[in-house]
Amino acid sequence: MHPALREAVVGAHRRMEERSRCYLEAQGLRVSCRRGCWACCLAWVVVGLAEAEYLREQLGRLHPEGLRRVEEEGPLRVDRIARDRNLPDLPRQHFLSACPCPLLTQDGACAVHPYRPLACRGVLTDLEPAYCLPGVVPGLRGAARARYRAQLEPRHGPEHYLKVPWQAAGRLARGLWNTERRIRGFTVVGELVALVYLLGQEGFQKALREGLGPVRRWLEVRGLWGGRWGFWVG
Ligand code: SF4
Ligand code: SF4
Repeated sequence: MHPALREAVVGAHRRMEERSRCYLEAQGLRVSCRRGCWACCLAWVVVGLAEAEYLREQLGRLHPEGLRRVEEEGPLRVDRIARDRNLPDLPRQHFLSACPCPLLTQDGACAVHPYRPLACRGVLTDLEPAYCLPGVVPGLRGAARARYRAQLEPRHGPEHYLKVPWQAAGRLARGLWNTERRIRGFTVVGELVALVYLLGQEGFQKALREGLGPVRRWLEVRGLWGGRWGFWVG
């Protein structure tokens, strides 16, 4: 991985942690998020190439078992993208299918917690963790729904997640994509597990060395380019 890109990823992760900590302290908020609480790890997580490279590098260095699980799950996610990338609600369907991130351990912790991407760092709530489980919020009725809604404040959103960390993660991720465009000339953005897996494919690596056009063609030929949820390059 290009050293300047690694530095940019580490810096963005550090800034994200600082922003979340400052915000929570200033607001006097205590989050419900704990080790062993994992429903958010059922989500469809989208990252840029630099964060995926960084994660693969750390997995290779520190967590070969995690990398093995990515190699196992990656082809399934690639197939899903090729098949379903135009489904309007693919992330919701994926979440409801309760197929966890392969980096989630048996005891419900993130195996790469210090290295997890911005998209994971931005998901925090101060409300009940049960609301994060698939289907729970849409299934609330009557008094339970009213109670849920009464707890939502302007600082929440989407749903019961805290808005400020969510938005900060999005801004920092976009900043990282811009940094990557300056350093590498382009970035690739898409689903986390599939992208970390593809980085282990010689053909994809060769396309990355050749530049934006070859990467786009490589993804197009495999049906992974574009649509609502396919990879994009730019
Ligand atoms: S976002 Fe929800 S599921 Fe994820 S750690 Fe926090 S409380 Fe748990
Ligand atoms: S990388 Fe870690 S925090 Fe992010 S979805 Fe996977 S297990 Fe969860």
